[in-house]
Amino acid sequence: MTAKKTAEHEKKPAKASSAEKAAPKEEKKAEQAAVNIGMVGHVDHGKTSLTQALTGKWTETHSEELKRGISIRLGYADTTFYKCPRCKGSEAYTIKPACTACNSKAEKLRTVSFVDAPGHETLLTTMLSGAALMQGAVLVIAANEPCPQPQTTEHLVALKIAGIKNIVVAQNKIDLADKKQALENQRQIKEFLKANGFENAPIVPVAAHLGINVDLLIEAIEKTIPTPSFEKNKPLKAYCIRSFDVNKPGIEINDLKGGVIGGSIIEGMIKIGDTVEITPGIEGKPMQTTVKSLNCAAGKLNEAGPGGLIGIGTTLDPSLTQNDRMRGQVIAQPGLMPLPTKKVFLKMTFIERLIANVDKRVRTNDVLVLTVGAMTALGTMIKEKGSVLEIDLKTPAVIEKGEKIAVSRKEGGRWRLIGYATPEK
Ligand code: ZN
Repeated sequence: MTAKKTAEHEKKPAKASSAEKAAPKEEKKAEQAAVNIGMVGHVDHGKTSLTQALTGKWTETHSEELKRGISIRLGYADTTFYKCPRCKGSEAYTIKPACTACNSKAEKLRTVSFVDAPGHETLLTTMLSGAALMQGAVLVIAANEPCPQPQTTEHLVALKIAGIKNIVVAQNKIDLADKKQALENQRQIKEFLKANGFENAPIVPVAAHLGINVDLLIEAIEKTIPTPSFEKNKPLKAYCIRSFDVNKPGIEINDLKGGVIGGSIIEGMIKIGDTVEITPGIEGKPMQTTVKSLNCAAGKLNEAGPGGLIGIGTTLDPSLTQNDRMRGQVIAQPGLMPLPTKKVFLKMTFIERLIANVDKRVRTNDVLVLTVGAMTALGTMIKEKGSVLEIDLKTPAVIEKGEKIAVSRKEGGRWRLIGYATPEK
């Protein structure tokens, strides 16, 4: 067996982030992020520059993303929030260990992981798969455009479907709007939030690229998005959002490293030496593998729980994990998840305001995208019986009882969220 590598002229595979690469030298115990916070909103409203202002990191690393100026994959960046014990008000909040106002030593609050979801309309399904990993979100809305823009609505509804209750609105690009425009925009945001059941979400005016009001935003995040109490005693369940072959071309077989999976733990714990099941696996056959290494953004771990992106080194053939092939798979305690299936029966709920001008029925032969956890599954509507839709999936998916599945359909040449479904029986 040799490690297959993509030729230079082909599209380059995604690079492993620091979390997925080898750990730093020191053996200090690395600390995982406490919570995953989505960075969502319409394209070009400034999600990536806001992530940079909050973390000091730029999440668009894929060359194609840089070229097009939009995020294609889910980006991930961790940051630690601090608070100055001497300063009062929002200026006490910083991402630096020393206070930016008085230079005193600041106290560490927590490390958070930002999941930067693409806002471009053609990348809706990527955003939807990312919602499964979020426990709170920052909805970025540009102050210099009317609100809501189409993906502002789609993303907020996606958060709702994913069960996310705690959000903060960053009213970005405040420097590009005059006072009258900014106030009118804020009124529109309030109305929009109320119509979607998020009237308690704070709205923080910011200018991400100038670093204006980032402290206020941190304060709002700290007060609005609490650290969830994860159930660590439950069996392991994690979602894969990336996967890699970390071997260099021409490597000796003896030095070959197993496939690496990058994902986020939803429940339970994982430790080195564990046997885990990856499902639906390849062609609907779940696979088992042994955990060889664990890394978070801060370094090596012996065991990991929920929070942030975890790089899991496995014994899988690295050709199985190259180029994100494992994206959307569930990593779980063996036997925990239901069997993969290609036939599903769903109860559909349309979301009226998303589909005001389109057909509110799913018809025979309609092609749908179902977002199941972090998995994007293509399906065809076979028949409708009462309110239950029978759908054939192109590739198998693992669907849990009571799970809420986001449903998208092609409208005018692109995928649009039309509602959600729950499995029948
Ligand atoms: Zn201070």
